[in-house]
Amino acid sequence: MSVTVPKSELKPAASALDVRSDFPIFDQLVRGKSLVYLDSGATTQKPRPVIDAVSRYYETQNANIHRGNYQLSIEATNAYEQARTKIAAFLKVSDTSEIIFTRGTTDGINLVASSLGRLLLKPGDEVVISTLEHHSNIVPWQLACEHYGAKLKVIPINDAGELLLDAYQKLLSPKTKIVAVTHLSNALGTINDIKLMTRLAHETGAVMVVDGAQWIAHHITNIPGLDVDFYAFSGHKLYGPTGIGVLYGKRAWLEKMPPYQGGGDMIKRVTFEKTTYADLPNKFEAGTPPIAEAIGLGAAIDYVSGLGLQRIALHEETLLKYLERRLQDVPGLHIIGTAVKKSGAVSFVLEKPDVAAYDAGLRLDVDGIAVRTGHHCCQPLMDRFGINATIRASLGIYNRASDVDALVESLQTLRSERASKTIALPVESANTLVFPPAFGPSPESVAEELLEEFSYLDDWADRYQYIIDLGNKLAPFPDSERTNDNLVHGCQATVYLTAQKHPHSLDILDFMADANADIVRGLIAILQRLFTGQKSADILAFDIDGFLEKLGLHQNLALTRRNGLASMIQRIKTLATAIEASCVNCAKC
Ligand code: PMP
Repeated sequence: MSVTVPKSELKPAASALDVRSDFPIFDQLVRGKSLVYLDSGATTQKPRPVIDAVSRYYETQNANIHRGNYQLSIEATNAYEQARTKIAAFLKVSDTSEIIFTRGTTDGINLVASSLGRLLLKPGDEVVISTLEHHSNIVPWQLACEHYGAKLKVIPINDAGELLLDAYQKLLSPKTKIVAVTHLSNALGTINDIKLMTRLAHETGAVMVVDGAQWIAHHITNIPGLDVDFYAFSGHKLYGPTGIGVLYGKRAWLEKMPPYQGGGDMIKRVTFEKTTYADLPNKFEAGTPPIAEAIGLGAAIDYVSGLGLQRIALHEETLLKYLERRLQDVPGLHIIGTAVKKSGAVSFVLEKPDVAAYDAGLRLDVDGIAVRTGHHCCQPLMDRFGINATIRASLGIYNRASDVDALVESLQTLRSERASKTIALPVESANTLVFPPAFGPSPESVAEELLEEFSYLDDWADRYQYIIDLGNKLAPFPDSERTNDNLVHGCQATVYLTAQKHPHSLDILDFMADANADIVRGLIAILQRLFTGQKSADILAFDIDGFLEKLGLHQNLALTRRNGLASMIQRIKTLATAIEASCVNCAKC
């Protein structure tokens, strides 16, 4: 007799990596639960040796480097330069002066785009990037192309999220001066064949620049083996501190390139007539660098190397397979990006009924689960898939099967909550505009009521649910009002807002709004309670920031969502200002 094992029971064997106790962040409860951190693609948590190395530097070595002839400065300089040596060894680079410290991947790519752009690009030249790129590997090239009259060419992808290498080959021509691609896609987890792409780029005489932000923490990086010309990554995605990154560059290019920034430490001799530049790598490290951060990155490299990149890769590969398999247990979950070679992350959307990625992220947060939702700084990639956001779970060395189980369980709960809501509260749309009346005599009085209601809610989980419930009670919004003119820009969700002057009192603003994300509908409900049916002068005088602070929204909403809220408030204030102006001019009342 054959026994069918449910997919969900095919758990990975107890992992060979058991490093959680090295990471103090996991010692605390988040939202009252033990932290399930599935956002290492955004930034990794820091192990104790990294934290200690940074503190030790400040406690015992703090001095500026390369400048003082005294013991502390010499020690600090040595520690900083040792970090460079560790990084070179980690990348299998023999010439340490090819290792430039930067602030991160973004900084490294901007350095190359600016400096190599100046050296190489002329009108009519071409720079090739790919559809998978993070904005940091798009915008610097757009800026360079605009400046030098060059053209940006984009390698397309297939529906699995893999680069079309035939199309890449066709894009390459003698006009191609630079190819810049990611080693591992942050949004989809696709691994690109950098060795092959570099060979093809070199065959046409182009320079190869690689964004290694995501690859670096997951696999061995052998720079000479890849033969790339430039390779950029960030320390904070490799268990190191923020504010530090690395740009590897081939000596031959770095020597020819003009400096990126001018200042102290990057010069040999300065006169008012002419400056000569320092040798590599200092030529590209103007000003006081992030010393403690570089030392912390050195400690991170020691830590990761101690575990072994091969072991890390195996651990994460097993977990990634388990994650992809378990996600199939969530109804309506659709994975975006199904490349044959993947690593580090899985992106997905929830469909039928749709759940906006933002809502899913907030709901998971209530269960202490950290994932990234949004466009992942890859808007052109989202456009390629016809979506504006995904939910992304990304892995680090501390993740284990139970994190995956917690994610799946929370997604399943979200699904069932949504199913019951769909039955109880169908999201209607209306045919006619019916503006709700004012909720109180003034925004201040409504604010007091709201603050009292929220004061009964103990924690963010309850407040979050209350906001969602408020959104569920929004008056139906007519489809006819879902127009471009009524779109509120700057929100990650799609938000429509329509308004009128009150029929009986011309200085009063009535408005309604709607959004495709539950949390945003909740925020709209709060704004509507405060402002609709109120005098424009009272709307403008109301201290909305103070109120939101008291409500606890500023502390609990991500910046992107706060920006969206700010955009809605701005729209309401603009409408109120227009009413004010017309009222002053008309003098009818
Ligand atoms: N490229 C990729 C692929 C990334 O994932 C990121 C960070 N999300 C970056 C570039 C930018 O890195 P940083 O913000 O550390 O400069």
